[in-house]
Amino acid sequence: VTQEWEPGFDATAEAAADSPVIAFADGRVVLAGEDPPELPTVAALQVDPNGLLPIGRLNGTPAFAAVVDIADGRPTASLRSLLANAPPPLAAAAARAAQLVEWELGHAFCSRCGARTEPHERELARVCPSCGAHFYPRIAPAVIVLVEREGRVLLARRAGLERPFFSVLAGFVEPGETLEETVRREVQEEVGLGVADVRYFGSQPWPFPSQLMIGFTARATADEIRVDETELAEAHWYAPDELPPIPGPFTIARWLIDDFVARMRRA
Ligand SMILES: [Zn+2]
Repeated sequence: VTQEWEPGFDATAEAAADSPVIAFADGRVVLAGEDPPELPTVAALQVDPNGLLPIGRLNGTPAFAAVVDIADGRPTASLRSLLANAPPPLAAAAARAAQLVEWELGHAFCSRCGARTEPHERELARVCPSCGAHFYPRIAPAVIVLVEREGRVLLARRAGLERPFFSVLAGFVEPGETLEETVRREVQEEVGLGVADVRYFGSQPWPFPSQLMIGFTARATADEIRVDETELAEAHWYAPDELPPIPGPFTIARWLIDDFVARMRRA
C-alpha cells in the first residue's frame, strides 16, 4: 500500500468516524496495530471531536492530532521509534502532530495577560479573547553541516551519549544570524576550523521538541582540529571506507554522510 502524507492546516476539516488520529498518551503515540504500525480511528479512540487538531491528509483523508488520558490497553510507540521504523508518511505525520500538540499545550494560556486562549477560526494559531494576542507554532532552526577536506569527512562524538556514535556538527541559529554565519560560527566554536564553499543540502523537521535541521556541506580551510571539550568528546577526519558508527538512515546527518560517500566513490 502506497502511503501519502500532505502536511497542511484546514480549520474546516471535519473528523469522520474512520479518520486516523495521532493520539499521544503520556508522550507516546497510541497505535491500533504494531507491525506494521497502524493508527487508531476517531471512533476507536472515542475522542471528543472538539479536541481534535487537523494536521493534514494521510492517504488522501484528513488526519488529526489529539491528546488522550490513557492508551487504554493499546500498544504505544515513542516518536523516536516511529521516526526510525514507521513508513516515512506516517513518521512525518507523527512528527508534525507531536509539535502541534506540544505547542497547543504550551499556549493554553496567554503569556501576556494570563487568560485562556482559543483556537483561531481559520489559521493555525491560538488567540487570546481578552487581549487579542496571537500565538503561532514556533520552530527552532538549527544548522547541520558536513565538513570535508581532501576526501575525508569530519565526524564528532558528543559526550554522554547512551549509544556512542559519530556525526556531523550541528547548532542552533542565533537571533540576527544568517544560516551561513551559523555554519561558520558552529564549526569554528566546536572544532576550531574555518570553512569555505558553504552549500545548502536539504532540511529535515526534527520534533524534539520543534527543530528544523537545515543541512549544509562545507570545505575546511585547514586540517588541524581543536575540539571544544564542553561540547564534544572527540572529533576526527575519516575516509569514506573507514567510517565509525554513524546515525540511523532516517536522519539528515546520515543523508549528508551517505551523500559524501557517494560523491567520493564517483570521484
Ligand atoms: Zn491575553
